[in-house]
Amino acid sequence: MAALRTALYGRLVHSFSFSSLRFASCFKAADLTIERNAACKPKPEPSTLLFGKQFSDHMLTICWSEKDGWEAPQIKPFQNLSLHPASSALHYSIELFEGMKAFRGVDNHIRLFRPMLNMERMHRSSDRSCLPLFDKAELLECIRKLVEVDQEWVPYSLDASLYIRPTFIGIEPSLGVSRAGRAMIFVILGPVGPYFTTGSFNPVSLLADPSFVRAWKGGVGAYKMGGNYGPTIAVQNEAVKRGCQQVLWLYGEQEEITEVGTMNLFIYWTNEDGEKELVTPPLDGIILPGVTRQSLLDLSRSWGEFKVTERTVYMKELMEALDSGRIMEVFGAGTACVVCPVGSLLYKGQTFEIPTMQNGPDLAKRFYKELTDIQYGRTASDWALLVV
Ligand SMILES: *Cc1c(COP(=O)(O)O)cnc(C)c1O
Repeated sequence: MAALRTALYGRLVHSFSFSSLRFASCFKAADLTIERNAACKPKPEPSTLLFGKQFSDHMLTICWSEKDGWEAPQIKPFQNLSLHPASSALHYSIELFEGMKAFRGVDNHIRLFRPMLNMERMHRSSDRSCLPLFDKAELLECIRKLVEVDQEWVPYSLDASLYIRPTFIGIEPSLGVSRAGRAMIFVILGPVGPYFTTGSFNPVSLLADPSFVRAWKGGVGAYKMGGNYGPTIAVQNEAVKRGCQQVLWLYGEQEEITEVGTMNLFIYWTNEDGEKELVTPPLDGIILPGVTRQSLLDLSRSWGEFKVTERTVYMKELMEALDSGRIMEVFGAGTACVVCPVGSLLYKGQTFEIPTMQNGPDLAKRFYKELTDIQYGRTASDWALLVV
């Protein structure tokens, strides 16, 4: 019986695919053509960088059509796209993206951080979007090549980096709500500065209002699809209006704690059994499977110093733990900041202080150091992929 259940579960989880194109032949990095930009821009000062505002000199594009399959990947000067106004990405949000970074290390080598996890997530998002599938290693090699071409855009700084935005859009020129027969992957790059100004963590304040929902069971919250993010802007603005910096996303009647802004959430507490425990919500379909989240879980499990648990946490439990002084640290985790301490919570019209900063935050700082040491080449690790 157990074997049968395992077989069935295995089949459902591992073989289920929305795309009928999973065996279609893929583009190859070996076929890349490179057109160099003859008019490269001056690079901005790392200290003046704003997230997502500056872009490098080149981009990667890879086109696909039902009729001809994948075309050869191209690296070419950064430029506008020309799209048919009926393109399905523009109407039905047949769009997905990734967010990753390239770091210039202490040895002047450039590294990516666990990039295959991004490729795997992008592949899952593509499948869920009925966009054509691709060979993850080939796409990663194309991205590696793009970063190599624009390597001077990776800031000469130990707290800045080059943000990489792989994007996949449906460009079917038809208003029918159906699978896109044309699609394009493109990848753009832009230098980004430090999330925190020199060495000091700034804690964020959160709005926890259960009337706003980011993702739901049976929905697509676990995928990095554009459609998940546009609708959050109004909620983020509401949080700012109420004097908070970010949104703590709750779910369901029992107010499950899910994510914070566009970060995964971690709670480090003394649990009801008196044990030190790091808790984060499980990947049950409403949580985005973050690369940073996975890395914090892997690291802390390898330390074996405290209990590490993926489980649903309810608002009631957080409030009780806060009330009885069992909360040590609450922080978000994501590529943008690595970890981001949470300092307070606005819930049902009342502000609750969270003692993350008063507790160091020792654990958040340790995670930050471990990850950035790998990213900037201070610690050797197979989580780092050398670009050049
Ligand atoms: C991207 C993202 C994260 C963090 O993922 P990383 O791979 O760690 O950057 C968390 N939550 C949401 C909703 C996201 O979009």
